[in-house]
Order: sequence, then structure tokens, then C-alpha cells
Amino acid sequence: MSRRRMIYEVKAKNLYEGPEPGTLVQYFKDDATAFNAEKRAILDGKGVLNNRISEFMMTRLSTIGIPNHFIKRLNMREQLIKKVEIIPLEVIVRNVAAGTLAKRLGLQEGERLPRALVEFCYKDDDLGDPLVSEEHISAFGWASPPEIDDMIALALRTNDFMSGLFAGVGIRLVDFKLEFGRHFEDDMVRTILADEISPDSCRLWYLESNDKLDKDRFRRELGGVTEAYAEVARRLGIIRDSGDSAEIVDLKGAAK
Ligand code: C5P
Repeated sequence: MSRRRMIYEVKAKNLYEGPEPGTLVQYFKDDATAFNAEKRAILDGKGVLNNRISEFMMTRLSTIGIPNHFIKRLNMREQLIKKVEIIPLEVIVRNVAAGTLAKRLGLQEGERLPRALVEFCYKDDDLGDPLVSEEHISAFGWASPPEIDDMIALALRTNDFMSGLFAGVGIRLVDFKLEFGRHFEDDMVRTILADEISPDSCRLWYLESNDKLDKDRFRRELGGVTEAYAEVARRLGIIRDSGDSAEIVDLKGAAK
């Protein structure tokens, strides 16, 4: 068997050439990094959970007409995705003050924001992904004004949908990061959601206690990181408890 061609390696994922033109295989690793990769660890089973949780979110977002790169899950750690040209921005949506926003503006963590906020950061590890404005984005040509409008509209719709979905299972969606790409089809180009949606890229707190179920458990050394991710998956119905081990549930119903 020939080795697959690796297209790109990021901190928690590898991207390989896909079986057909215009496709890629996204492989979810167990690697965890924080603070621009200064803090690192391997968290057993994280990649398997994130593959499932991202599949779940992308599939549901498709049902409400939010275009995204997900085609199908291939196995425990891999999914087939559409190849896109990644727009070099992190699009962050916030409902509650936390993380860098709380620090930057001196807000109390947990304070509800007056309305959902959309922020953009320029994807550049050497610069530490700095916050940028729409002015910077269009002036430097990272995205066109219509693409900026598309990203904001899609990010806010995603926020409304995911906030409701998580609230329904007792979880508060505090904030999250999205990435978008340009998908070329015939002579058309469309802005679609890419990357992943998982507890690595979202802040998720229990509605009742505000306890954390996301990557802040790793960033802040709170322990129980994969257990928290598994709890998110369990509440979403992706895994179910069977005796003392968690069983992964096929999204079509059958247990695997
Ligand atoms: O750190 P900050 O408060 O700016 O993060 C906002 C949200 O974006 C958090 O949910 C965080 O997990 C996510 N994020 C991410 N990747 C980054 C930066 C932030 O997934 N490089």
C-alpha cells in the first residue's frame, strides 16, 4: 500500500490528499496544544471524540443550510472533506465574556455580553494570531468585503443554532472559533465553513454550575480533559454509557 500524501499538518490534525480530486482526508490527532504550542500533551481518545463531535455539528449545520466542508466520516479518526482555499482568519463568536476578550477589556469572566460579538484574528502563529478589523482584512486582501459579510452572517447563524442545541442538553455556548474557505465548483466560488467544531475550538460550560467542558481544562490544568469532551459527546447523544465504558453510537442509530 502506498503512503498517502500529507498536504498539511496542524497542531491537532493532519490533512491528506483525498481519494478523488477536490477532496481531502482530515485526520484528528490526540495532540493538544495551547498558548501558541508552548504547552503540549497527548490526550488519549481526544481525536476520536473531536472527529465525532465535529461530524455531528457539521451534519446538523448542513440541515439548516450552512454550507461546510464535511462529506462523510471514514473511520474513528478520519473524515472526508471538500478541499477549500482556507481564508487566513479565525472568526470568533462570543456570547459570554471569557478568555482574551475578558482580559483585553477587563471584563469579569462569565459576564453575558450585550449581544453576540464577532471578532477576526489573522492566522499567523509567529504573530500570535492578532486581532484585526474588517479594515485590515480588506486592505490587505485576506478576504473581500462580500466574503467578510458571508463569514459574519454564517458565523451568527451558526451561533444561534449551536447555542440552542447546547442549551437543550444543559450546556452554555460561551464562545467558539470558526474557519472558512473558498470552495471552487465549476466557475463558481462559495464561502463555506471548514476546519472543525469541537471542545478544542469552543468554550462550553455546564448551564447550572458554569464548570468547564472544553479545552480550558487543558489550558488551566484542571484535569479530566477527555472526560469532559466525552460528557459533551454523551449529552449530544454521540456516545452512550454502557456499564463502565462509554460506547460510541453510530449517528444513524447503531452502536459501534
Ligand atoms: O482565547 P480566546 O478567548 O480568544 O478564544 C476564543 C474562542 O476561540 C475559544 O473558544 C477558543 O477555544 C477558540 N480559539 C481556537 N483557536 C485559537 C484561538 C481561539 O479554537 N487559535
